[in-house]
Amino acid sequence: MPLKYNKAPDVKQLANQIIERLEFSHIAPDCVHCFRSEGSKSRRIIARIHGFGRIWQQALELPPTYVIEVLSERYDKLSPEEKEKTVLHELMHIPMGFKGGFRPHKGYVTKRHVDNMYEKYKKRKQNRF
Ligand SMILES: [Zn+2]
Repeated sequence: MPLKYNKAPDVKQLANQIIERLEFSHIAPDCVHCFRSEGSKSRRIIARIHGFGRIWQQALELPPTYVIEVLSERYDKLSPEEKEKTVLHELMHIPMGFKGGFRPHKGYVTKRHVDNMYEKYKKRKQNRF
């Protein structure tokens, strides 16, 4: 059965909160879309981020855009904290330039870096920033 995609307003709201609290000013929130997919057989992947590469931007004359996809079968079972971390992880793949490409796991989107960022996020959340 093919994957089914639905818009995920809950994920979008979470992404906006993370962008705001962590002052990810390089990310244009309107150019980050969030979808929930259903029907994946993957047991490993919880979420992924899709970029809209430069050649497509030029061909279609559209701005850089990203899509965060959460896999319903796995993501929906996570605790609120794990969901936050998952979306944060995906947002951290977006590079400073916001040009449609990605920052790699190696050297940037590491567990340690995500955990550090998450601590910062949690503190700001507690302080209602
Ligand atoms: Zn990743």
